[in-house]
Amino acid sequence: MAEVQMGESETFAFQAEINQLLSLIINTFYSNKEIFLRELISNASDALDKIRFESLTEKSKLDAQPELFIRIVPDKTNKTLSVIDSGSGMTKAELVNNLGTIARSGTKEFMEALQAGADVSMIGQFGVGFYSAYLVADKVIVTTKHNDDEQYVWESQAGGSFTVTRDLQGEPLGRGTKITLFLKDDQLEYLEERRIKDLVKKHSEFISYPIYLWTEKTTEREVSDDEEEESSKKEKEEEGDVEEVDEDKSKEKKKKKVKEVRHEWQQINKQRPIWLRKPEEVTREEYAAFYKSLTNDWEDHLAVKHFSVEGQLEFKAILFVPRRAPFDLFDTRKKLNNIKLYVRRVFIMDNCEELIPEYLGFVKGVVDSDDLPLNISRETLQQNKILKVIRKNLVKKCIEMFFEIAENKDDYNKFYDAFSKNIKLGIHEDSQNRAKLAELLRYHSTKSGDEMTSLKDYVTRMKEGQQSIYYITGESKKAVENSPFLERLKKRGYEVLFMVDAIDEYAVTQLKEYDGKKLVSATKEGLKLEDETEEEKQKREEKNKSFDNLCKTMKEILGDRVEKVVVSDRIVDSPCCLVTGEYGWSANMERIMKAQALRDNTMSSYMSSKKTMEINTENGIMEELRKRAETDKNDKSVKDLVLLLYETALLTSGFSLDDPNLFASRIHRMLKLGLNIEEGEAAEDANMPPLEEEANEESKMEEVD
Ligand code: ADP
Ligand code: MG
Repeated sequence: MAEVQMGESETFAFQAEINQLLSLIINTFYSNKEIFLRELISNASDALDKIRFESLTEKSKLDAQPELFIRIVPDKTNKTLSVIDSGSGMTKAELVNNLGTIARSGTKEFMEALQAGADVSMIGQFGVGFYSAYLVADKVIVTTKHNDDEQYVWESQAGGSFTVTRDLQGEPLGRGTKITLFLKDDQLEYLEERRIKDLVKKHSEFISYPIYLWTEKTTEREVSDDEEEESSKKEKEEEGDVEEVDEDKSKEKKKKKVKEVRHEWQQINKQRPIWLRKPEEVTREEYAAFYKSLTNDWEDHLAVKHFSVEGQLEFKAILFVPRRAPFDLFDTRKKLNNIKLYVRRVFIMDNCEELIPEYLGFVKGVVDSDDLPLNISRETLQQNKILKVIRKNLVKKCIEMFFEIAENKDDYNKFYDAFSKNIKLGIHEDSQNRAKLAELLRYHSTKSGDEMTSLKDYVTRMKEGQQSIYYITGESKKAVENSPFLERLKKRGYEVLFMVDAIDEYAVTQLKEYDGKKLVSATKEGLKLEDETEEEKQKREEKNKSFDNLCKTMKEILGDRVEKVVVSDRIVDSPCCLVTGEYGWSANMERIMKAQALRDNTMSSYMSSKKTMEINTENGIMEELRKRAETDKNDKSVKDLVLLLYETALLTSGFSLDDPNLFASRIHRMLKLGLNIEEGEAAEDANMPPLEEEANEESKMEEVD
């Protein structure tokens, strides 16, 4: 019927994952459907933010529609609910891309979360909030007008596709977007004024644009018959919904009561920014409501810091720490939009990278500056001195807030679980606050049991005369707990921290010391224990000397595999271990770097090559080897044993084997030897020709040497 005036309809298929998401939303029962309204209002608010920001530098952008608002229109006759905003609107291309054809990074994650039992209200956090419209509607129509394009209509009943049509006939929006939901028959509650008002109060109270609801007011009025007839006629013509209530014609005075239905826009949100209020006057519930509206989070915040800075520079801010890390915390493709920047109550932008360092990217909140110019552009922000001061203050306040969280153990555990990587990244990057951030570190240790310990507590447990804080890095607590490197340290009662997060390696190389005490790796060269008496030292050195020969022989056998072979101070039970240079990569770092795709190979060759083999003079195997090496340097079994010890040490020291097969065949040979199996003995005997298989293996081993 309207074909003449509508443009040509184009049909598009939803991107595959979005299509899946839509089916999931439509076909699964979720009780918490009401959140759709919050999502639509949040999108409207985003679009308004966008146009307001653009208009700061180019005023004419508001010309088509100077007023900034959100309007909600329930229509009981047609069973539709519309959300209208005078925001940026979308061009045709944006309409097609944003609402259906371009994959959103969170789509898959959100579906997985849903299937794992997550609540549908999380949808906003995954960047697919728009589709929540289909929780309550079976058809959605989006009409939109962008300054740079004509008015277009998007329409879909899900089912795999949507259409986009040039809107030649509809009421012109000027600028902005109108989303009309055709409500499912069992979702008509969302047409009720009370319900909508409550929802806005609950989820969208802090939206900084006026939200108007199209309300219906019925008033009763007494009119005389004549008057009534006239006005009723007139109203009937205008609105068609005047109802007579008093039909009692027998009334003497000929007075009648009529119901008048009037429509009006009623503002249903408050809008006075919460950060302007005094902290002591804001309740925890109000902060929580504000936090949720700011972040789309479905849980309350873990901590909040509300403060104002006065003096040469004035600004107010509220900062929040969430309870969990978002699914894409370290996704570098995602822009930060966690701190909203306002200038004198006017929203400026929400992805200002200059406002907060990357490692604090998980902190959410608002900052409202009195000093920044309103028409500031992204480019000038980068050099802005005021912004630098604000940033410094925000960092300081964030750290203060973390210390406040640390006062409650349960809260801090939650915080640390979610954000310890950020703290460590901060230690790596933020030299100014490094010492302060180090206070926030927690580690398991040889003495901490199930709890974790702070460096401060470690220091209180340090033995008399202990100068350093010892730590070991590795893949997991399990992997380091029984490491040979810890043996002597443990035996002597030194506590060793377990650093088992990949980022620990980076953080600790920057941290270097805490409270004047050096952080010393148990797996690197140069580990000196401090509490040895003169006598002990002399005895040890004598003994070490007797192993000089073996060290030399071992180095000859191992060749380039190791830098040197020395007597160890650190092991008690194991025969030997491999340590790395104080400034090179640890075994753990080598593992991390090997696992990184695209790493620079030149770096790894010189950082990873410096392994030192440390041998334990107290170990029976080493004692036996020493004797054999003394009598016959070229003893075949010595060579085999040394290589086997080396390979075993690679494993126990946290490295990986380059050739596990070679290692396995060496073990097998040893097994045969142990079991007195003939071939094994034959191969051992240099005068007998070795079996073919073994011969190959021999030559392979020669090549390696
Ligand atoms: P998000 O808001 O996290 O980006 P949504 O699924 O809620 O994800 O919205 C998808 C995109 O659709 C938005 O990023 C925006 O580009 C566009 N959009 C949605 N609603 C509106 C609106 N009212 N005005 C302008 N653009 C909108
Ligand atoms: Mg959204």
